[in-house]
Amino acid sequence: MKCPLALVIALILSVSAFAKSDSTILTKTVTDSGSIIYTKNGLTLTLNNKSVNFDTVVLRQRLVATFFEVYPKLLQTFNPDATKHVVFNVDSAYDGVAYASRGQITFNPGWFVKHPDDIDVVTHETMHLVQAYRGGSPGWLTEGIADYVRFKFGVENIGWALPAFKETQKYTDAYRVTARFLAWLEAHVHSGIVVELNTALRTKTYTQNTWAELTKKTLDELWADYAKSPAL
Ligand SMILES: [Zn+2]
Repeated sequence: MKCPLALVIALILSVSAFAKSDSTILTKTVTDSGSIIYTKNGLTLTLNNKSVNFDTVVLRQRLVATFFEVYPKLLQTFNPDATKHVVFNVDSAYDGVAYASRGQITFNPGWFVKHPDDIDVVTHETMHLVQAYRGGSPGWLTEGIADYVRFKFGVENIGWALPAFKETQKYTDAYRVTARFLAWLEAHVHSGIVVELNTALRTKTYTQNTWAELTKKTLDELWADYAKSPAL
Protein backbone atom coordinates (compact mmCIF):
# COMPACT_ATOMS: atom_id res chain seq x y z
CA MET A 1 0.00 0.00 0.00
CA LYS A 2 1.53 3.29 -1.11
CA CYS A 3 -0.32 5.59 1.19
CA PRO A 4 -1.04 4.03 4.59
CA LEU A 5 -1.64 7.43 6.20
CA ALA A 6 -4.68 8.01 4.01
CA LEU A 7 -5.97 4.60 4.98
CA VAL A 8 -5.55 5.36 8.68
CA ILE A 9 -7.33 8.68 8.28
CA ALA A 10 -10.14 7.02 6.36
CA LEU A 11 -10.44 4.42 9.12
CA ILE A 12 -10.54 7.09 11.84
CA LEU A 13 -13.18 9.02 9.91
CA SER A 14 -15.32 5.96 9.41
CA VAL A 15 -15.06 5.00 13.10
CA SER A 16 -15.98 8.51 14.24
CA ALA A 17 -18.84 8.59 11.73
CA PHE A 18 -20.10 5.33 13.19
CA ALA A 19 -19.79 6.65 16.75
CA LYS A 20 -21.65 9.79 15.75
CA SER A 21 -24.47 8.00 13.97
CA ASP A 22 -24.80 5.64 16.91
CA SER A 23 -26.37 8.33 19.12
CA THR A 24 -28.94 9.04 16.44
CA ILE A 25 -30.29 5.48 16.41
CA LEU A 26 -33.69 5.03 17.99
CA THR A 27 -33.43 2.58 20.88
CA LYS A 28 -36.43 0.87 22.37
CA THR A 29 -36.97 -0.93 25.67
CA VAL A 30 -40.12 -2.42 27.13
CA THR A 31 -40.73 -2.13 30.87
CA ASP A 32 -42.40 -4.74 33.07
CA SER A 33 -45.56 -2.65 33.09
CA GLY A 34 -45.72 -2.66 29.29
CA SER A 35 -44.55 0.90 28.68
CA ILE A 36 -42.24 1.31 25.72
CA ILE A 37 -39.34 3.70 26.18
CA TYR A 38 -37.70 5.19 23.09
CA THR A 39 -34.50 7.23 23.21
CA LYS A 40 -32.69 9.15 20.51
CA ASN A 41 -30.41 12.20 20.50
CA GLY A 42 -30.88 12.89 24.20
CA LEU A 43 -34.67 12.69 24.00
CA THR A 44 -36.80 10.08 25.72
CA LEU A 45 -40.33 9.19 24.75
CA THR A 46 -42.32 6.85 26.97
CA LEU A 47 -45.39 5.38 25.36
CA ASN A 48 -48.17 3.93 27.49
CA ASN A 49 -50.85 2.05 25.66
CA LYS A 50 -54.05 2.18 27.67
CA SER A 51 -56.31 1.29 24.78
CA VAL A 52 -58.23 -1.93 24.67
CA ASN A 53 -59.24 -4.04 21.66
CA PHE A 54 -57.23 -1.79 19.41
CA ASP A 55 -54.17 -2.63 17.36
CA THR A 56 -51.95 0.41 17.83
CA VAL A 57 -48.81 -0.88 16.16
CA VAL A 58 -49.10 1.27 13.03
CA LEU A 59 -50.38 4.23 15.00
CA ARG A 60 -47.60 3.77 17.56
CA GLN A 61 -44.92 3.80 14.90
CA ARG A 62 -46.33 6.95 13.34
CA LEU A 63 -46.68 8.72 16.68
CA VAL A 64 -43.09 7.88 17.57
CA ALA A 65 -41.64 8.77 14.16
CA THR A 66 -43.48 12.10 14.09
CA PHE A 67 -42.32 12.96 17.60
CA PHE A 68 -38.64 12.30 16.86
CA GLU A 69 -38.82 14.24 13.61
CA VAL A 70 -40.63 17.32 14.90
CA TYR A 71 -39.74 17.71 18.57
CA PRO A 72 -36.00 18.46 18.10
CA LYS A 73 -36.88 21.23 15.63
CA LEU A 74 -39.41 22.77 18.01
CA LEU A 75 -36.96 22.64 20.91
CA GLN A 76 -34.24 24.27 18.86
CA THR A 77 -36.52 26.97 17.47
CA PHE A 78 -38.67 27.84 20.46
CA ASN A 79 -37.33 26.59 23.78
CA PRO A 80 -34.18 24.45 24.17
CA ASP A 81 -34.93 24.17 27.91
CA ALA A 82 -38.25 22.39 27.43
CA THR A 83 -38.61 18.87 28.75
CA LYS A 84 -36.44 16.14 27.16
CA HIS A 85 -38.68 13.37 28.49
CA VAL A 86 -42.15 13.19 27.00
CA VAL A 87 -44.88 10.68 27.79
CA PHE A 88 -47.51 9.66 25.24
CA ASN A 89 -50.65 7.99 26.59
CA VAL A 90 -52.77 6.21 23.99
CA ASP A 91 -56.05 5.95 25.84
CA SER A 92 -59.32 4.70 24.34
CA ALA A 93 -61.17 5.96 27.42
CA TYR A 94 -60.42 9.53 26.36
CA ASP A 95 -62.99 10.75 23.82
CA GLY A 96 -61.45 14.05 22.71
CA VAL A 97 -58.68 14.22 20.08
CA ALA A 98 -55.58 14.84 22.20
CA TYR A 99 -54.36 17.10 24.98
CA ALA A 100 -51.02 18.03 26.48
CA SER A 101 -50.25 18.61 30.15
CA ARG A 102 -47.09 18.51 32.27
CA GLY A 103 -44.87 16.60 29.86
CA GLN A 104 -47.61 14.18 28.87
CA ILE A 105 -49.82 13.96 25.81
CA THR A 106 -52.95 11.84 25.80
CA PHE A 107 -54.27 10.62 22.44
CA ASN A 108 -57.61 9.10 21.57
CA PRO A 109 -56.69 6.16 19.28
CA GLY A 110 -60.22 6.15 17.86
CA TRP A 111 -59.61 9.61 16.37
CA PHE A 112 -56.82 8.22 14.22
CA VAL A 113 -59.01 5.37 13.00
CA LYS A 114 -61.45 7.94 11.64
CA HIS A 115 -58.75 10.44 10.61
CA PRO A 116 -55.63 8.42 9.75
CA ASP A 117 -53.97 11.38 8.01
CA ASP A 118 -54.18 13.65 11.03
CA ILE A 119 -50.81 12.63 12.50
CA ASP A 120 -49.75 16.28 12.86
CA VAL A 121 -51.93 16.40 15.93
CA VAL A 122 -48.57 15.30 17.39
CA THR A 123 -46.93 18.49 16.08
CA HIS A 124 -49.62 20.72 17.60
CA GLU A 125 -49.59 18.95 20.97
CA THR A 126 -45.82 18.67 21.34
CA MET A 127 -45.64 22.43 20.72
CA HIS A 128 -47.74 22.87 23.86
CA LEU A 129 -44.97 21.11 25.82
CA VAL A 130 -42.36 23.37 24.22
CA GLN A 131 -44.47 26.45 24.99
CA ALA A 132 -44.46 25.51 28.69
CA TYR A 133 -46.45 28.65 29.55
CA ARG A 134 -47.11 28.91 33.25
CA GLY A 135 -50.65 30.26 33.14
CA GLY A 136 -52.06 33.65 32.30
CA SER A 137 -51.41 33.37 28.56
CA PRO A 138 -54.32 34.17 26.23
CA GLY A 139 -55.76 30.84 25.13
CA TRP A 140 -56.46 32.07 21.59
CA LEU A 141 -52.80 32.96 21.10
CA THR A 142 -51.50 29.77 22.71
CA GLU A 143 -53.63 27.69 20.33
CA GLY A 144 -52.90 29.95 17.37
CA ILE A 145 -49.16 29.49 17.87
CA ALA A 146 -49.56 25.70 18.16
CA ASP A 147 -51.46 25.59 14.85
CA TYR A 148 -48.99 27.98 13.20
CA VAL A 149 -46.27 25.53 14.23
CA ARG A 150 -48.29 22.67 12.80
CA PHE A 151 -48.58 24.63 9.54
CA LYS A 152 -44.83 25.35 9.45
CA PHE A 153 -43.30 22.17 10.92
CA GLY A 154 -45.99 19.53 10.29
CA VAL A 155 -44.74 16.36 8.60
CA GLU A 156 -47.86 15.70 6.49
CA ASN A 157 -50.82 18.02 7.09
CA ILE A 158 -52.83 15.96 4.62
CA GLY A 159 -56.38 17.27 4.57
CA TRP A 160 -55.42 20.11 6.91
CA ALA A 161 -54.76 23.67 5.80
CA LEU A 162 -55.06 27.24 6.98
CA PRO A 163 -58.56 28.54 6.13
CA ALA A 164 -59.05 31.44 3.75
CA PHE A 165 -59.61 34.81 5.39
CA LYS A 166 -63.22 35.85 5.97
CA GLU A 167 -64.59 39.16 7.20
CA THR A 168 -66.37 37.42 10.06
CA GLN A 169 -63.10 36.15 11.55
CA LYS A 170 -61.39 37.64 14.61
CA TYR A 171 -57.85 37.14 15.86
CA THR A 172 -59.31 35.65 19.03
CA ASP A 173 -60.89 32.82 17.00
CA ALA A 174 -57.73 30.83 17.92
CA TYR A 175 -56.36 27.70 16.19
CA ARG A 176 -56.12 27.94 12.39
CA VAL A 177 -57.66 31.41 12.05
CA THR A 178 -55.08 32.90 14.40
CA ALA A 179 -52.38 30.70 12.85
CA ARG A 180 -53.06 32.21 9.44
CA PHE A 181 -52.82 35.72 10.91
CA LEU A 182 -49.46 34.77 12.44
CA ALA A 183 -48.28 33.38 9.09
CA TRP A 184 -49.28 36.68 7.45
CA LEU A 185 -47.42 38.67 10.12
CA GLU A 186 -44.32 36.51 9.57
CA ALA A 187 -44.50 37.05 5.80
CA HIS A 188 -45.43 40.73 5.61
CA VAL A 189 -44.75 42.51 8.90
CA HIS A 190 -42.13 40.98 11.17
CA SER A 191 -40.22 37.82 10.37
CA GLY A 192 -39.60 35.92 13.61
CA ILE A 193 -42.60 37.35 15.45
CA VAL A 194 -43.89 33.92 16.50
CA VAL A 195 -40.61 33.05 18.21
CA GLU A 196 -40.64 36.42 19.99
CA LEU A 197 -44.28 36.14 21.05
CA ASN A 198 -43.60 32.63 22.31
CA THR A 199 -40.66 33.82 24.39
CA ALA A 200 -42.67 36.70 25.84
CA LEU A 201 -45.51 34.35 26.77
CA ARG A 202 -43.17 31.80 28.33
CA THR A 203 -41.24 34.38 30.34
CA LYS A 204 -44.45 36.13 31.38
CA THR A 205 -43.42 39.42 29.80
CA TYR A 206 -46.25 39.33 27.24
CA THR A 207 -48.77 42.19 27.40
CA GLN A 208 -51.06 43.89 24.88
CA ASN A 209 -48.11 46.26 24.25
CA THR A 210 -45.90 43.41 23.01
CA TRP A 211 -47.44 43.72 19.54
CA ALA A 212 -46.56 47.41 19.30
CA GLU A 213 -43.08 46.81 20.71
CA LEU A 214 -42.42 44.27 17.94
CA THR A 215 -44.23 45.94 15.02
CA LYS A 216 -44.98 49.58 15.98
CA LYS A 217 -48.68 48.79 15.58
CA THR A 218 -51.35 47.60 17.99
CA LEU A 219 -52.91 44.18 17.64
CA ASP A 220 -56.14 45.74 16.35
CA GLU A 221 -54.24 47.81 13.78
CA LEU A 222 -52.37 44.73 12.61
CA TRP A 223 -55.61 42.78 12.22
CA ALA A 224 -57.15 45.69 10.27
CA ASP A 225 -54.14 45.66 7.91
CA TYR A 226 -54.50 41.90 7.55
CA ALA A 227 -58.23 42.18 6.75
CA LYS A 228 -57.47 44.72 4.03
CA SER A 229 -54.87 42.58 2.30
CA PRO A 230 -54.90 39.01 3.64
CA ALA A 231 -52.93 37.21 0.93
CA LEU A 232 -50.07 35.18 2.40
ZN1 LIG B 1 -53.88 22.97 21.44
